[in-house]
Amino acid sequence: MKLPRVGYEAPEAVPDAVALLAEHQDEASVLAGGQSLIPLLALRLAQPAVLIDINGIDELSGVSAADGWVAIGAMTREYVAEESETVTDTVPLLAAALPLVGHEAIRNRGTIGGSLAHADPAAELPAVARALDAEFVVRGQSGERVVPAAEWFEGYLTTSRRPDELLVEVRFPAAGRGTGISFQEVARRHGDFAIVGLAASLTLSEGAISDARLAFAGVSDVPVRAVGAEGLLVGEEPSAELFDEAARRATGDIDPPADLHGSSDYRKKVAAALVRRGLRAAADNAHERQ
Ligand SMILES: Cc1cc2nc3c(=O)[nH]c(=O)nc-3n(C[C@H](O)[C@H](O)[C@H](O)COP(=O)(O)OP(=O)(O)OC[C@H]3O[C@@H](n4cnc5c(N)ncnc54)[C@H](O)[C@@H]3O)c2cc1C
Repeated sequence: MKLPRVGYEAPEAVPDAVALLAEHQDEASVLAGGQSLIPLLALRLAQPAVLIDINGIDELSGVSAADGWVAIGAMTREYVAEESETVTDTVPLLAAALPLVGHEAIRNRGTIGGSLAHADPAAELPAVARALDAEFVVRGQSGERVVPAAEWFEGYLTTSRRPDELLVEVRFPAAGRGTGISFQEVARRHGDFAIVGLAASLTLSEGAISDARLAFAGVSDVPVRAVGAEGLLVGEEPSAELFDEAARRATGDIDPPADLHGSSDYRKKVAAALVRRGLRAAADNAHERQ
């Protein structure tokens, strides 16, 4: 299908991109890897007047670590993050999720910022960002602001980014010693969006769980933290019974949508299985990392 006629700008610096966004506001779409935006344009589901192509802004790409955080530039390709030793060593949950995002060809073009700005509730990276309380750095003409993940995802394909703001960087906290992770999902085929996905992180200290993070993909119009189950896990020693109880609590707290891929009840059953599986794997991983 042919793309509609659309204006095109290719700024080479962040202030220029921000000025263009301020000028065009809702009429503009930022073009990153194009892996979600181009199909939306072709299907006429997005009809911006102008594309602001940020592929030529070098300062938006890169991975760096400092002060217990890993900062990933918005234009960093998903495959670059996947290959990054810093990401593998310090944000293992993100490293576990990345190979599940589409296929290699998609990840060669798709970007970390694009996936998180697109905010598909069935996507893997939003669940990781929500589980880890990532921080989103956005820049507008009045300066920069940092948005916590809990306030970033507002609804289906909707974030709290204002029309005149560019997402420039996403920061993930580094995993400490004793933190184990697991990313689980059920999808129709490898590379498909998750029917249900789960980002899980457990920290063990002296045999007990001192921190628990569970975030679902595919059960709502935003990634969802299983806060009740997390509270139930903290302070306890890992066991099959505890993980069963957490699975019951987590699925009791969600009301997933039904669609072509599965009923609400099916998604709940999948979610329960993923919680049990994810917690077991995260606990094993935490033991290895102690
Ligand atoms: C066949 C196929 C399968 C896929 N499977 C999966 C999958 O299993 N899991 C998954 O998570 N994803 C999947 N994707 C999507 C893929 O991960 C995309 O790369 C990602 O969702 C969007 O990243 P992008 O860089 O291509 O963004 P684009 O498509 O360029 O942009 C997406 C949206 O984000 C906005 N945007 C992008 N960057 C910025 C920025 N810096 N500031 C402000 N707004 C910005 C754009 O304006 C647009 O609205 C798939 C895509 C395809 C084509």
